[in-house]
Amino acid sequence: MRKPFICGNWKMNKNVAEAETTINDLKDKVAGIDNVEVGICSTALCLTTVKRAAAGSEIVTGAENIYWEDSGAYTGEISAKMLADSEIEYTIIGHSERRQLFGESDYEVNLKVKSALKHGIKPIVCVGETLAERKADQIEAKVNFQVDAALKGLSEDEITDVVIAYEPIWAIGTGETASAEEANRVIALIRENISQSYPEAAKKVRIQYGGSVKPHNVEEIMSQPEIDGALVGGASLEADSFAEMITKT
Ligand code: 13P
Repeated sequence: MRKPFICGNWKMNKNVAEAETTINDLKDKVAGIDNVEVGICSTALCLTTVKRAAAGSEIVTGAENIYWEDSGAYTGEISAKMLADSEIEYTIIGHSERRQLFGESDYEVNLKVKSALKHGIKPIVCVGETLAERKADQIEAKVNFQVDAALKGLSEDEITDVVIAYEPIWAIGTGETASAEEANRVIALIRENISQSYPEAAKKVRIQYGGSVKPHNVEEIMSQPEIDGALVGGASLEADSFAEMITKT
């Protein structure tokens, strides 16, 4: 019922020419696959190139961040409205790198989620615990707090369009992954928490796992019943490895 969503997050990698080459490659490798939604999130600079290169394929495109106002004196930012004008489908919101390196708060994440939905952009909201929080048995408290804050004030209908990415911070870019069972357990807790206020949306909302997902572990992760996809950093940079992950899903 929930279509798996495998989405690359290129982070601050690739210039425009590299972005175009990678999408052209990827497009050929994933042609005809329709059991998985395939996405690429790139820097603002590469977005229209990625969108154009992906034309004629099923690959959807996303930004890595937005600001919540539509336009104005916000030097360096881009808006959900601008994404909508360029027919971009998704945006990542509240990635742990934004929260940790750029001080993004749960309140700001909520404003960004609302702005994205207002313009028909589907937000991919990232949540996850630090290693210290994991050791202190705070996983559930942390992720539920982040999810509640991100979804605050949304209607049940709007929540249906939200994608949540559970990304334990200690697993990002480290080669460490939560075991597939553990990721499944936390994702089930997130869904259970959402279902308390939004029972219908909870059945539909897609919850991905992210953090060192690679060709060798994607099958095991995707075989878990609660895991609806993956948000992939490093292994999405090469068309070969990313396409392999999609084929294995
Ligand atoms: P890696 O797959 O490189 O661990 O990155 C995960 C991530 O942060 C995706 O948003």
